[in-house]
Amino acid sequence: MPRTAYVNGRYVAHGDAHVHIEDRGFQFADGVYEVVSVVDGVFADEDGHLARLSRSLNELDLPWPMHPMSLRFVMREVARRNRVRNGLVYVQITRGAAPRDFRFPVDPVPTLVVTCRSTKFSAPQQLEKGVSVITIPDIRWARRDIKSVALLPQVLGKQRAAEAGAFEAWQVDPDGTVTEGCSSNAWIVTQEGVLITRAASNRILNGITRLSLLAEAAAAGIPFEERAFTVEEAYAAREALISSASTFCVPVTRIDGKPVGDGVPGPLGRRLRQAYLAHVGVPDPVTGPVVTKL
Ligand code: PMP
Repeated sequence: MPRTAYVNGRYVAHGDAHVHIEDRGFQFADGVYEVVSVVDGVFADEDGHLARLSRSLNELDLPWPMHPMSLRFVMREVARRNRVRNGLVYVQITRGAAPRDFRFPVDPVPTLVVTCRSTKFSAPQQLEKGVSVITIPDIRWARRDIKSVALLPQVLGKQRAAEAGAFEAWQVDPDGTVTEGCSSNAWIVTQEGVLITRAASNRILNGITRLSLLAEAAAAGIPFEERAFTVEEAYAAREALISSASTFCVPVTRIDGKPVGDGVPGPLGRRLRQAYLAHVGVPDPVTGPVVTKL
């Protein structure tokens, strides 16, 4: 089936979709984006993603390209035209096309691109066995809280992870603390059973999945702390996890080749994943509905 993209007011064939060569997203990475998962037709955490998009736009003085309600409609229409029931919707907004000049154009006309593709989210094996991560220096800028399209450090990090046979790379600040993955937030569970993830600040992207997982942990009475943790603490953890819109919550069972805990996914990670999908209101698209043994 031919794919369809939305570009600046028009639904166009994916292969013909294009933006101008002087688009500031292309010239300067002067833009932001969001990714929303569609799970069984449900737009997961859509309000949170749009709120973060609003914040990212605001931080960069970028105008909304259309009313947020219209954007919700376009996202649905792109999903519908691509017949996606399980997939990812990408929204990219830049400061538009203008003659090359670092300074903002006087009357910017933002570029808006919305695309959607089907995905299986994770392979069943990644949930059964967990995934591995490597640690790398965090070489990003000081405004990681903005979901900017400038993703070169993450491109390099993900490539290093792939070359090492790992799923994700955890970025590490000069003080030895883990900031986050290249496209996910990082979590550990201490030997005492306390869930730890870094507090929101300009050092990380405040994941929408992260926020929902924290709310679920609080509601379930799971002890948690929002604080930085070191790579050494992660090596000594009982469990480790990553979270993102495209993976929800996936167990990490190896860090830099060392097994986490006993090297198999732990119960808290499983519980959090189930809680997240219950919060979205859908069965797990990877494992199907959870059957509770009586
Ligand atoms: N950190 C980074 C750097 C990311 O790219 C992502 C994925 N968007 C996340 C964290 C997770 O955020 P979310 O749960 O909103 O997908």
